[in-house]
Amino acid sequence: MLDQHLNAETMQRAIACVTRLDRPSAPMSVNRLLDPLDAEKLALLRFTPHRCGHCGAPVNLRVRAVEHSGTTTGRRAYFAHAAGTGNGCPALTSPAIAAASIGAHQFDGRQEGARHRYLKQALMDAACGDSHIDDAMLEVLVTNEGVHRRPDVAMVIDGRMIGFDLQLAPPSRDTIRGRTAFYERSPVLHAWVLDGAQLDQVNLQPFQDLLWRLGGNILAFDEACVARSAALGRLQMKRVSITDSGRDIRAQWSWITWPELANWFGLNPAPTGLADDPISRAFWAHLASPERTDLKLWYYAMAPDLGLPPWKDFVADGLRPVLGALASILSGRVRDGSTRAPHAVRAVVNTSLATDVFDGRHLWVPVFEAALHSGSAAPPVDGNTPRVLARAWAAHDSGEFARRIRDWRPLFTRLIPTLPVP
Ligand SMILES: [Zn+2]
Repeated sequence: MLDQHLNAETMQRAIACVTRLDRPSAPMSVNRLLDPLDAEKLALLRFTPHRCGHCGAPVNLRVRAVEHSGTTTGRRAYFAHAAGTGNGCPALTSPAIAAASIGAHQFDGRQEGARHRYLKQALMDAACGDSHIDDAMLEVLVTNEGVHRRPDVAMVIDGRMIGFDLQLAPPSRDTIRGRTAFYERSPVLHAWVLDGAQLDQVNLQPFQDLLWRLGGNILAFDEACVARSAALGRLQMKRVSITDSGRDIRAQWSWITWPELANWFGLNPAPTGLADDPISRAFWAHLASPERTDLKLWYYAMAPDLGLPPWKDFVADGLRPVLGALASILSGRVRDGSTRAPHAVRAVVNTSLATDVFDGRHLWVPVFEAALHSGSAAPPVDGNTPRVLARAWAAHDSGEFARRIRDWRPLFTRLIPTLPVP
């Protein structure tokens, strides 16, 4: 079996240092990079390209199964040269096993096909029996900018089409990236759906890769959903969440209500006005995390597929404090990743308008005004706020503000669809 000689205690990594593939970077120790990571960070790091530090060839981050390594941490991971590269490199690694062959190994193709066909038809039938859903189609062709996709089921709800992909085989990273990028640029919304009767599959790395991009959350469908949908006359789906204990990864599920499902699809934002689809939820959760690297790693993994500028621009343009403050204003509690008390929203607002910080965060003051006046609740201002706002306006640079809005409007619209961005 591949790499059987490796185990968590004694693993010697052939490639001891790597650099980033997408930008100049100093060589990094692989042990120091990988060992402290949890399952989520490992999965996200697999979407960030690296080079071998010894020969410069592109490398892939491989992750051994939890059941074989006894840990969910990065101690089970190592870099290996991409197929056909690294010839002559002193760091010898074994040939890659293709994602397609992992799928073939795990599933008998014909059985998987029958199960897939059953679930697809059952999801379609459940949609047709639900008066919330205006239309449902099997394998309809959708195109955008010359690219085609054929979701398993497409539903039309409130004039919007949602494509559903029943993901029974482990998805390759190319599949995950390609679908994400396609639907992000398309008016068609998208939902990944697992087989609810096969939730132990979430332990397979390709499902880890998919789920952690979605903040560890996904929908599922199975016979229990079919029976409940028929009984209630409403489409019933399961919401699945995974947790990493350090020793294993477990999946829990619960029924998802119709309003939650509509938010999940991206048809409606949450009551706060913040987008509530799994990608947005993952963003907001990482933004609110006091662990500062969480958002960065997720952003690196997702930004190319979401069509967002690089992380360094996100930081340089002050997006972290401005989005942290906007989320705090709209939800009424601190969500900027600071360790302030949950109700200290006024302090978050005042800090995010400081005029003496390298990122020029105060230049976003027109967006703050929009957020402060958008809610029905009393805006979170204190005696200092008028002075802070006045100082930000006095230092305003309309040319730079126009440039920032041009670059970042898609992100604001994506994450806070209700905010009237100036
Ligand atoms: Zn090498």
